[in-house]
Amino acid sequence: MKYISTRGQSPALNFSEILLGGLAPDGGLYLPETYPQFTDADLTSMRGMNYRDLAFAILSRLIDDIPASDLKAIIDKTYTAEVYSFTRAGQNAEDITPILKLEDNLYLLSLSNGPTLAFKDMAMQLLGNLFEYVLAKTGETTNILGATSGDTGSAAEYAMRGKKGVRVFMLSPHKKMSRFQTAQMFSLQDDNIFNIAVNGVFDDCQDMVKAVSNDAAFKAKYKIGAVNSINWGRIVAQVVYYFKGYFAVTKNNTQKVDFAVPSGNFGNVCAGHIARMMGLPIDKLIVATNENDVLDEFFKTGVYKPRGSANTYHTSSPSMDISKASNFERFVFDLVGKDSAKVRELWASVDKGGAFDLAMLMPKLADYGFVSGSSNHANRMQTIRETKAKYGVVIDTHTADGLKVALELRQANTPMVVLETALPAKFEDALVEALGVVPPRPYSLKGIENLPQKFTVMEASTDEIKAYIEKNI
Ligand SMILES: *Cc1c(COP(=O)(O)O)cnc(C)c1O
Repeated sequence: MKYISTRGQSPALNFSEILLGGLAPDGGLYLPETYPQFTDADLTSMRGMNYRDLAFAILSRLIDDIPASDLKAIIDKTYTAEVYSFTRAGQNAEDITPILKLEDNLYLLSLSNGPTLAFKDMAMQLLGNLFEYVLAKTGETTNILGATSGDTGSAAEYAMRGKKGVRVFMLSPHKKMSRFQTAQMFSLQDDNIFNIAVNGVFDDCQDMVKAVSNDAAFKAKYKIGAVNSINWGRIVAQVVYYFKGYFAVTKNNTQKVDFAVPSGNFGNVCAGHIARMMGLPIDKLIVATNENDVLDEFFKTGVYKPRGSANTYHTSSPSMDISKASNFERFVFDLVGKDSAKVRELWASVDKGGAFDLAMLMPKLADYGFVSGSSNHANRMQTIRETKAKYGVVIDTHTADGLKVALELRQANTPMVVLETALPAKFEDALVEALGVVPPRPYSLKGIENLPQKFTVMEASTDEIKAYIEKNI
């Protein structure tokens, strides 16, 4: 299996060759040359599999440059009940992504039982083990530089802590993450984890990462790597739980299922698109946004118009507060018939701060199953309250965005699976506002805010971060 760039001007590469990087050299995103196909017989044989065997059945079709026995071992050590232990009462941690039935044909897929209580652990934990494996083979090291407003940084650090050959330099806006998120990251004492609190906002952190990555000489000399949401390894890991969710709510492969996905950078729902392209009988893929509704606008009108970071709202579902959806280009590549010249033309305008209009392709959007909706703060609060009252289930603000839109777009007789992208404990303040009580927190995370913290405060300066990396390698 070779991977090609959406912009068509980079050489095709193997999985291991694209694993440690981000964008392709031509500025595009990597995708498999073709999507492997699962037949009805394949699906039937996968139906009873546990999460690990299912993950191997899928990933082995997309990763062919790691020997099968090694890939199996990596998967087996990633998806264990010990790592995904923060289950709700009555759920079995062995399921890794247990399904929670709210009522007939309405389910939550619990993706957030991993160490940092958000779905990003599902992919990042695999990435940590893949990185360690690939680096050990080549004897190389990598220094991951990233920016976070909360969830990505903690997921990356928990996945990479203690891994041989890997260091993590994670920039976050000083005093702007929640107390819980800050404690999750800063309480890690591992020698290979470097927390840098930047005097500025998230975009300042992002700009510092971009500036360092654009310095090709520095990047090569210090082996700067990335684990941002465009990393193909993250997308591929997320394909698996669509299969798991599908099998959990159907009895045979003639049934179709809808998935509702709280979306920000379009990574999660892009994995659903890929699962569908590989033959999983998904009917609708529902893109749910918050007030930052650039994607909702696209799926309703065909116009894609990123707003820019200055016009991005800070909401109570902060992990979906994006100014442009970095993975969206992957879907558009398929939508325009894998025409990379067309993709280059469209993004030439987006990269200059412009927009594009694909209204003439609206009928094709339906063929891909995409529909969308958006949610706002009042909707979230109400959805959290109603879900608690009706089903006795407490959900977080991002999942509430997904459920709100799912309820609007539900089809009679089609099971609807809403992806639970974080546990409520992660967003205490918003949950207290909605329900008047502090959401339940896993026992082992009680008092995490009181642990000693390890971090460095820095100005928003590219020179400073470069000097810091040089000093600590
Ligand atoms: C990252 C994140 C999202 C958005 O996922 P994308 O893959 O960027 O679309 C939604 N909810 C939570 C809790 C997240 O952490």
